[in-house]
Amino acid sequence: MTATDPLHAELKRHFGFDSFRPGQEAVVRDALAGRDLLAIMPTGGGKSLCFQLPALLKEGVMVVVSPLIALMQDQVRLLADNGIAATFLNSTLSGAEAAQRIQALRRGETRLLYVAPERLLSPGFIESFLQPLRETVGISAFTIDEAHCVSEWGHDFRPEYRQLSRLRELFSDVPVFAFTATATQRVREDIARQLSLHQPALHVASFNRPNLYYAVKPRGARSFDELLAHARSTRGSGIVYCLSRKRVDELSSELQAAGIAALPYHAGLDGETRREHQDRYIRDDVQVMVATVAFGMGINKPDVRWVIHYDLPRSMEGYYQEAGRAGRDGEPAGCILYFGMGDIRTAEFLIAQKVHPQTGEPLEDEQRIARQQLRQVLDYADSTECRRAVQLRYFGEPHPGSCGNCDNCINPRPLQDWTLEAKQLLSAVARLAQRRQRYGAGTVIDILRGAKTEKLISAGHDTLTVYGIGAGRSAEDWRSLTRSLLQQGVLEETHDGYPVLLLNAASWEVLRGERTVQMAAPVAAARGSGKGRAAKAAVAAGVVPDSEEDGLFEALRALRKKIATEHGVPPYVVFNDASLRAMARERPTDQDAFAGIPGVGAKKLDEYGWDFTALIREWQPDKR
Ligand code: ADP
Ligand code: MG
Repeated sequence: MTATDPLHAELKRHFGFDSFRPGQEAVVRDALAGRDLLAIMPTGGGKSLCFQLPALLKEGVMVVVSPLIALMQDQVRLLADNGIAATFLNSTLSGAEAAQRIQALRRGETRLLYVAPERLLSPGFIESFLQPLRETVGISAFTIDEAHCVSEWGHDFRPEYRQLSRLRELFSDVPVFAFTATATQRVREDIARQLSLHQPALHVASFNRPNLYYAVKPRGARSFDELLAHARSTRGSGIVYCLSRKRVDELSSELQAAGIAALPYHAGLDGETRREHQDRYIRDDVQVMVATVAFGMGINKPDVRWVIHYDLPRSMEGYYQEAGRAGRDGEPAGCILYFGMGDIRTAEFLIAQKVHPQTGEPLEDEQRIARQQLRQVLDYADSTECRRAVQLRYFGEPHPGSCGNCDNCINPRPLQDWTLEAKQLLSAVARLAQRRQRYGAGTVIDILRGAKTEKLISAGHDTLTVYGIGAGRSAEDWRSLTRSLLQQGVLEETHDGYPVLLLNAASWEVLRGERTVQMAAPVAAARGSGKGRAAKAAVAAGVVPDSEEDGLFEALRALRKKIATEHGVPPYVVFNDASLRAMARERPTDQDAFAGIPGVGAKKLDEYGWDFTALIREWQPDKR
């Protein structure tokens, strides 16, 4: 497509973008054609634009259903800043304010109406407002954003979303567009069914997020200092995810005490406090949010530069979505997972607690699923393969590996010979089998390390010849070896009920000395804090900006913050980091040049062009 293509011209005029992101154009064209559609694009893929641009080009109002007030407000603000007439109706408005907005809609002055599902489906809203509106101004389409909320299989199920299928019945000639970032097949199918979409055009974008750097690090005594160093060296916003509320509170206080502007966020804080913390984070008043997974869908902040999982996530899907909150703006961002031995125990403990609330019987299905999910996360953490390839394979998307932007690609872990240890572990399993005893990895490792537990001694395990022969290795190393043997097919594990280790033909080859066992150095031991390595990874994570542009970028950020505060909007509403980076690189000093910066549309050129170009002009002399 050339720059003179009318669709691209509209894209630049309204949003200031020179080109579509992958997948966007096809969705926009289908939306313009007026068929139902289901678009699945990762977080940061740019879903909003896929319905906002058609809303501007089609006749009538586009009605957008959004699950959270914060999301609605955010989008309406962003649109307003691009000079686009959009409004929302929800419970935060006074009766008078809502009536005024409804009048404006009836006069055809509004292009997009954001509305909560409860409101949309409340008595009378459809009959006495929407249906008449369709006859006069027209309704171009219904967009269901965050459409996975309709599915019980998803993580944010909202019963009100179920009612939305009524739209399909009542407005048979208005197209319905569903958008979601869910990666699971089951949820996708459920969306189309629950919303009664009519032969929807299906768009599934790649889930690869090339700008995200992925790494796994051991969690230990030095982790907090690493976290601190990371927050200090990366000036941009970050999120630290923890499993428990208690941990969130502790960690945010520790960060505060160390001079980092951090706030906690979890479901145990009251609504007012949560809103305030989220607001201060979005406005860049604080740098770091320490949170449980309760801090999620509502964050549309595009310039989160890093996400650190300080505890092991519960599932790969969860990890992908949480880490994916980094770098929505397409600029480099880092995702680091800390992984420690204690995490496995905590996770197993939590799984064992999944019991029936009345009878106390274990919920076996749930426990089995949770164990399987845990195993997948552990496999990811342990893997020596390209992290991106492992993640995408999990979602059924092929990737050739060697992404060049993860720890395993940049700094591969060396292979080591673990044949001796493998023999010790396998013979422990063999000895137990001789006694007709079958155990899971935990007990086998305890035996190898010679644990003096009541359980082992009363079972007579301390009389086994293998008892204590592995005391020289940490339990974590033995865990890593066990997982590696399972992955290499040199050991088996039953998956029904409690997992139990079993030998197979390959195990016997190792025991007879016919086969050697290689394993990547365990995460805990492999990566020192070698300066060269750390620096290389930091550059890959985009945390070390080019020093020449750096000063100007920081000056532009300060100007952005000042303007945002004056206008009472979050800084990213003024410009996102990608735009500031382009300014720092290209240094436009007049309006013409400024218009060429990505993210600068007609409205922003008028409104901000002078201030920013003035800063760039003034900044240059004292830099030379
Ligand atoms: P999603 O809803 O898919 O997570 P958003 O619609 O919030 O993503 O968009 C994420 C970011 O990408 C926003 O900052 C948006 O301005 C930016 N963006 C969207 N489309 C483009 C594009 N074509 N070119 C550059 N930036 C874009
Ligand atoms: Mg979105």
